[in-house]
Amino acid sequence: MIPIPTSISELRALIGSRKLSAVEVTRATLARIAELDPELHAFLEVFQERALQNAADVDAALARGENPGPLAGIPVALKDNMALEWGNTTCGSKMLRGYRSPFTATAAQKLINAGAIVIGKTNLDEFAMGSSTEHSAFGPTRNPWDHARVPGGSSGGSAAAVAARMVPLALGSDTGGSIRQPASLCGIVGVKPTYGRVSRYGLVAFASSLDQIGPFATSIADAALALNILCGFDPHDATSAELSVPDFTADLDKPLEGLTIGVPRLSAQPQGEMALVFDAAVATYVNMGATIKEVSLPLTDYGIAAYYIVAPAEASSNLARFDGVRYGHRAALAKGDDLIAMYCKTRAEGFGPEVQRRIMLGTHVLSSGYYDAYYSTALKVRRLIKAEYDTAFRAGCHALLTPATPGPAFRIGEKTADPLAMYLEDVYTVGVNLAGLPAVTMPAGFIRDERRNLPVGVQLIAPAFEEARMLRIARQFEAATDWHTRAPGFEA
Ligand code: GLN
Repeated sequence: MIPIPTSISELRALIGSRKLSAVEVTRATLARIAELDPELHAFLEVFQERALQNAADVDAALARGENPGPLAGIPVALKDNMALEWGNTTCGSKMLRGYRSPFTATAAQKLINAGAIVIGKTNLDEFAMGSSTEHSAFGPTRNPWDHARVPGGSSGGSAAAVAARMVPLALGSDTGGSIRQPASLCGIVGVKPTYGRVSRYGLVAFASSLDQIGPFATSIADAALALNILCGFDPHDATSAELSVPDFTADLDKPLEGLTIGVPRLSAQPQGEMALVFDAAVATYVNMGATIKEVSLPLTDYGIAAYYIVAPAEASSNLARFDGVRYGHRAALAKGDDLIAMYCKTRAEGFGPEVQRRIMLGTHVLSSGYYDAYYSTALKVRRLIKAEYDTAFRAGCHALLTPATPGPAFRIGEKTADPLAMYLEDVYTVGVNLAGLPAVTMPAGFIRDERRNLPVGVQLIAPAFEEARMLRIARQFEAATDWHTRAPGFEA
């Protein structure tokens, strides 16, 4: 077994002091992927030659005494709904099989400018719609902790790649939980930044008012380091915030004085062993002297309902562009087929069942006669949910603590026949997107099933643009526990 690439900070020190070359790190990463990924299928594409060339460039710059950037030589993976000027950008869809982007997403470019080595593109639910990565047109990803289980989704490939220690850093996108839910199911850290914090330029749009890019890492410190690079205003994204970005690593190890954690009383209370894990997480904060305040968020009960109106509505509009004319797949036409037939055949062939379901739902809730009943009602609920969070923060909570998922990873195939069961995976995460807030999932324990221990995480939610404080609070938890140090046992 190839030695496990260590954390970003350790790798940085080794590469920076030239104890390890960037090429050696890239070779070890590629070898580990070659060994593990035929089984896990976290990657859709690996850029072997390009990665080695980029690594050689980093080594050459270091040899010249230059500073190639804060992520010099660090291997990273990108969810395959982010555009790169090279390779394919498939969104896990037949519709975009073989599609090549003419430009690179801002978030990816920032990592590249910081010296990171883009190793490859990772698997996802088609167009980021799903919670298990089973809706990928290219086959599911397996959970590194138990190969019979899903890694979560939709950023399941990125989560599995980090959990299996194939790369120390990967990007995902989170529209309703797609970073935080797989992070929980894979036992790693995942951050969804405030809406507007990270540019969405070059992220293929699912629901534009909810989508955010964020990092997966194995520690809060590594996630903070990544956010330092990813965050910031981008003139290419009209919704990106013109705010200065603090150094998220600066005070990370300073515990917050007088910490107050809000624990929402939710009707979807965690059950069984998940309840024990969550109670233990609350107790961890109590033991470090935090005040726990019970808060009431009654409207978050409507989060799933509102999200599954707003997100499909936006998706139906965003995905209208995949019509066989400009991008990707175009159906073979029969004699006599007109333009409408071309659209219909192309979209019926190119989109999988879940994406078609979302487009139909979204078109329905936006159609005249139903718009007021569904779409505008959902927008009102969305506003009220945001107000509810604001009230909780105004009442003195520095952050809110919730479970990240209802339970651990489920079996491949367990929920595919029941879309509603799949949607309920996001019961703790969608409210955060509706309100535009930042949140982080961190490893918080294990739940034993008949075969092995499966990781689960808890979620901290903070006021908008308070990522620095949120990460400090998360770091306090991490310092008091050792869940984040556990990795799936491939060596066994
Ligand atoms: N699982 C949710 C959905 O299917 C969230 C997806 C996401 O965040 N991209 O819509």
